[in-house]
Amino acid sequence: MTPVIEASDLVVRYGPATALDHVSLRVDAGELVALVGPNGAGKSTLVNTLSGILRPAEGSVSVHGRLAHVPEGRQLFGDLTVEDNLRLGGRRYRERDTAPVHAVLPRLADLRHRRAGTLSGGEQQMVAVGRALMSRPDVLAVDELSLGLAPLVVADLVEHLRELNARRGLAVLLIEQNARLALDLCSRAYVLEAGRIVATGPSGELAADARVSAAYLGGV
Ligand code: ATP
Repeated sequence: MTPVIEASDLVVRYGPATALDHVSLRVDAGELVALVGPNGAGKSTLVNTLSGILRPAEGSVSVHGRLAHVPEGRQLFGDLTVEDNLRLGGRRYRERDTAPVHAVLPRLADLRHRRAGTLSGGEQQMVAVGRALMSRPDVLAVDELSLGLAPLVVADLVEHLRELNARRGLAVLLIEQNARLALDLCSRAYVLEAGRIVATGPSGELAADARVSAAYLGGV
């Protein structure tokens, strides 16, 4: 398989604190991969390093194609319309046409003139996903898709990701504290704890692992 993200032996420090300790991760074209782990494990640090926001002290990141990042907390411009928030996502590639995003997330066409700050949490998350899609990415890194959202809203967003993957071959790296959700959607997963990858493999195998199950799935 062709990799879209290849990270090798990443070390990231904040001052004297080591947030990532020799982390390696790979996402292949068209793959759905989960990154799970507790609060403070380093998940956001890892995705910020993959997307180039943070520079590793050691190790390397290669991205083949375009990586788009849906950041934790959505980070929309609340005073701007949905349409203008989408356009900001395409700015780097001078992409202004929102029609392809409306085609996969039609709700965003209905909401196009609304100010992002007036939307529900689920709608805002959909705008954040749509904004990322504006760059026509090969891989989407989604940080905490489910945070603060009702289960039905999350299920709808997950279904959109599943469709984007199935129909357009979009690869997704899903960073989640909700391990059950992540392992259900993704075929392969990494478990990050205290800055280290402590387990990796097919999601089914990880879900069946007694230690992973006890720590992240609420039982054995
Ligand atoms: P969460 O789900 O809470 O965001 P996480 O797994 O994404 O957790 P990170 O946010 O990557 O974890 O944080 C990893 C470690 O690095 C934590 O101990 C955190 O306190 C620390 N950290 C994160 N950002 C900074 C920063 N800017 N300066 C100093 N330490 C930081």
